[in-house]
Amino acid sequence: MIFRRIQLAAFALLIAPLTAFAQTPGPQPIPAAAPEAAPLDTPYVPGALQLTVDLTDVGRRIIQVDEVIPVEPGPLTLFYPKWIPGYHTPGGPISKLAGLVITGKKNAPIAWLRDPIDVFAFHVTVPDGVKELHVAFQYLQPIRASEGRLSASDSIIDLEWNTVVLYPAGHFARDIQIVPTLRLPSADWHFASALDVKKTDGAVVHFAQTTLNTFIDSPLFAGLHYKRLDLSPDAGDPVFLNLFGDSDANIALTPEQIQLHKNLAAQAQKLYASHHYAHYDFLYLISDKVGGVGTEHHQSSEDGSPANYFMDWQGSVVYRDLLAHEYTHSWNGKFRRPADLWTPDFNVVPMQGSLLWVYEGMTQYWGYVLSARAGLRSASDTRDFIANVAAGFDASPGRNWRPLIDTGAQPVISQRAPVSWVSWQRPEDYYTEGLLIWLDADTKIRELSGGKKSLDDFVRGFLGKDSPSVITETYTFDDIVAALNAVQPYDWAGFLHTRVYDIQPKTPVDGITRGGYKLAYTDTAPAWRTVYEKSAPAISFAYSLGFVIATDGTIGNVYWDSLAFKAGIMPDMHLLAVNDRAFSMAALREEILAAEKTKDPIRLTLKRDDMVHTISIDYHDGLRYPHFERVGTTPARLDDILEPKK
Ligand SMILES: [Zn+2]
Repeated sequence: MIFRRIQLAAFALLIAPLTAFAQTPGPQPIPAAAPEAAPLDTPYVPGALQLTVDLTDVGRRIIQVDEVIPVEPGPLTLFYPKWIPGYHTPGGPISKLAGLVITGKKNAPIAWLRDPIDVFAFHVTVPDGVKELHVAFQYLQPIRASEGRLSASDSIIDLEWNTVVLYPAGHFARDIQIVPTLRLPSADWHFASALDVKKTDGAVVHFAQTTLNTFIDSPLFAGLHYKRLDLSPDAGDPVFLNLFGDSDANIALTPEQIQLHKNLAAQAQKLYASHHYAHYDFLYLISDKVGGVGTEHHQSSEDGSPANYFMDWQGSVVYRDLLAHEYTHSWNGKFRRPADLWTPDFNVVPMQGSLLWVYEGMTQYWGYVLSARAGLRSASDTRDFIANVAAGFDASPGRNWRPLIDTGAQPVISQRAPVSWVSWQRPEDYYTEGLLIWLDADTKIRELSGGKKSLDDFVRGFLGKDSPSVITETYTFDDIVAALNAVQPYDWAGFLHTRVYDIQPKTPVDGITRGGYKLAYTDTAPAWRTVYEKSAPAISFAYSLGFVIATDGTIGNVYWDSLAFKAGIMPDMHLLAVNDRAFSMAALREEILAAEKTKDPIRLTLKRDDMVHTISIDYHDGLRYPHFERVGTTPARLDDILEPKK
């Protein structure tokens, strides 16, 4: 160590005359600003926030916010919510806040200073004698899709309250009280939310006082075309489906469709034997004008499907696990939440995703299973959908480098923006791989217990405890292991650790095998896919050539290491021709099938920027639609799982 230092000193002396200008020490960082103190679990003493949100300028997507915040004199930080539960990312839409004006007594302006590091924080000094701040700003909703999800049209608004509130730093969100008032665009507009209403006065809605925590967790949909259906399995379990359409025709349900949604609430009640809400409201927009959504809340969910969802019922089967997924989150995610994902406020403590394979993965599993048990999706279609999940892993080599646990960091890494090479980056596989892990666990419990126990028993204990408490209870990896062991003793720690933390290149099919099936491929599309693909914006050829392609010929996802990838094809190329035929989905399918017989290469003419490329792919295995084949020697446990509960 000393020797080395002398050597370096000698070297420095030697070159000193030549580099005298480089001898300054170089720039040094300024002292770091003190971070905002962690919030305390103490009431916000000055009083309840009074919030008024005005939607009358919906036509221009401008929301006016006026807020009265009781305060004490001295320094104060106001936060715009940054970590929004359900998003798992610091993505509060701060860029859309504008026009901030803070005033004190007699409208005297009070200067605010945005924190130079935490841009979600505004610092003010409350003058002596000022007991409340008047805070006004606009929330400017996206007008173009490039600015973010379109959350409003001229006839529907999806209002997430976190976008229209500033709150004082220093306290848990449950310790801050708020009294919200909403002005709808006109008295013709309907609204729905899990919030309790005190009174309605024309277009003005006065909500009951609540905590900031419950407020932000209870978004509101408003719209001109509205229908409310009662799905309650019984009087003690009130569940409502609030539908908002681009038109009345979009939300005209047949009696059969209504019954299927009632079945969902009934099957959830049978599964969880509990609930953690005073009443539950599905907020469901059926629209091509407002962006699709699926965001969970404790007593409601924001859901969205295309405008023809109910009208083209056969074609909408791919969307039909959405409500079951978001509803399950009331138990798994909102009532029970990973300890490192729960935060006391929306700004100071970051969220961590180490258990998203439970939060989202198990919810994905029950979303599929409950949809099947309710009849929203048939058991056969559900098996196809699970086969697609497994086939997706067969075609995606990302598991060669990235353990599942690492995908839990992705919402923070990419803020949920799309990535270029999905099959290699595997950004959010905690959903689908999580699904297969929980199928694996379910069939394992069934096998070990000789069919006496199942994952139903696990969730009844783990998610159904303390019903009907709405107070979130957190859990750790060890709590999951202990609860599984209470149902069926096994090395669950090893089972889960291997699947979550280790590199697992092999497609995780153990649950499928133990469920009595094996993954196979066929040239014949299942009926649901044929109907779906008639109006689908893009179609997957993942398991044949190795890409997804839009109806206009634009290549979407290209599977890493697939034949298309090896031939140099990349996303955003435009397919002009297949062999000697101009591109159409029908032509592409027919030429793939023809190559199975002729054994000729498939010639693709692709355009990228101003260059045209002709690429030949030697592929002769047909269309390869994934599906399950029954393996007769194993009990059909997967069929038992998908059976409605009596
Ligand atoms: Zn989810």
